[in-house]
Amino acid sequence: MAHRTSFRESVEKMFNHAAGLMDLSPGLEEKIRVCNSTYTVRFGVRLRGQIHTFTGYRSVHSEHMEPVKGGIRYSLDVNQDEVEALAALMTYKCALVEVPFGGSKGGLCIDPRAWNEDELERITRRFTYELSRRNLISPSQNVPAPDMGTGEREMAWMADAYKRLHPDDINAKACVTGKPKTAGGIDGRVEATGRGVQYALREFFRHDDVMKRANLEGTLSGKRVIVQGLGNVGYHAAQFLSAEDKCLVTCVIERDGAILNPQGINIDALRGHIRATGGVKGFAGGDYHENGLAMLEQECDILIPAAVESVINSDNADRIKTKLIIEAANGPVTADADAILRSKGIVIIPDMYANAGGVTVSYFEWVKNLSQISLGRLERRHEEARARMLVEELERLSADTGLNWTLSKGFKEGFLTGADELELVRSGLDDTMRESFMKMKEVWMNNARVDDMRTAAYVVSIRRISNVYNSLGL
Ligand code: NAD
Repeated sequence: MAHRTSFRESVEKMFNHAAGLMDLSPGLEEKIRVCNSTYTVRFGVRLRGQIHTFTGYRSVHSEHMEPVKGGIRYSLDVNQDEVEALAALMTYKCALVEVPFGGSKGGLCIDPRAWNEDELERITRRFTYELSRRNLISPSQNVPAPDMGTGEREMAWMADAYKRLHPDDINAKACVTGKPKTAGGIDGRVEATGRGVQYALREFFRHDDVMKRANLEGTLSGKRVIVQGLGNVGYHAAQFLSAEDKCLVTCVIERDGAILNPQGINIDALRGHIRATGGVKGFAGGDYHENGLAMLEQECDILIPAAVESVINSDNADRIKTKLIIEAANGPVTADADAILRSKGIVIIPDMYANAGGVTVSYFEWVKNLSQISLGRLERRHEEARARMLVEELERLSADTGLNWTLSKGFKEGFLTGADELELVRSGLDDTMRESFMKMKEVWMNNARVDDMRTAAYVVSIRRISNVYNSLGL
């Protein structure tokens, strides 16, 4: 059987391709590429009357900025190669969207569905202890976040376990992000990655020249979308795109098969069905197909892989019939598939940009924890008071001059309401996605040797990392 490029090989190939187009000083390319360290921890937890041994990893790809940052994944497929590839992507992602972190990633080989909540809590707390002993969780050194199989609940357990181990650390809460609001989280973090996917697509559709490269025109409204994986990232992306941008989500692919409906699937109803039954089968709002993977090959305008890596590979790339792929998951397209898709004229918005919403809002949460105050708390009412002064002055002038203008109710309400935490988070995320897109676009459009957005993203990111190394004198 022909060798299929692994996730890690794909990341290295893509990195090497971009680095080869740049004039990096000798040895710097390798320094940026290699993963600095990976710890494997094995620990036992007594559960169900016996000791169970679990294997976990935490990889630190680059410490050119600290703390290093990256999610923790719970899955039986977790392995060292995967964790290292994900850590490398975190380094490049953070540099691309200008969040001041190095890259890291962690994982625990576990099927989270095989354990009850109490058991998962004990396992997570024990894993946190192992990480803390090695400085692999700390507000100043290494800050995990949720990833596949983990969420707010696990982050709250980790934060609490860390706090118990470090009761005198006033910044203890900042040891992880993606926590629930009651445990030091920030509004808008749960949906941040899906929201970032939506903002990335909105930005893409603002540029006629990039749309043309994907043979797309018009707006997002009415575009046919296929989503693979209706978890945290996929659900929020699908929900926002259908409810707010009027996209038609014509197919959702999950572990147990796919649901198709050319009129558009009701995402909230499908999510409810998955929660109730554990899968998409039996959902009344569309046709069920058992072979989910084959449904990636259905015709659509935008394909959103939001589940696992390497799902689009040299076996199926030739049969993919979309115009645009936005990589909500990390590494869903292998390097071989990437070349095939490009030759077919399919444009790919790369993972390191497309799913950067999560780490961006994690950054806001970390800053909030360190500053010990919620975003907007100091300025919100002041902002409202100044807006009110302006409105009252306009109304007075209008009455005094006999013009008798009346400001519409909607305008007045909007203008007189100061931004709360959620609005500030969305504003910061939108700004990040738009600015980073412009940087990638500039390199993509103005450099004849850069013929795709992924290479452009790598070039922007590698340039920034090399600038840091050069200024450090390394
Ligand atoms: P999740 O566990 O919440 O959801 C994953 C979903 O994919 C689940 O619904 C699962 O049933 C489904 N799935 C798993 N294997 C599948 C398969 N083979 N075919 C179809 N569906 C499958 O995970 P998530 O947090 O949404 O992460 C999804 C992807 O996004 C991962 O690649 C992750 O690294 C990436 N990501 C997540 C975040 C975040 O903030 N959570 C941030 C950046 C990137």
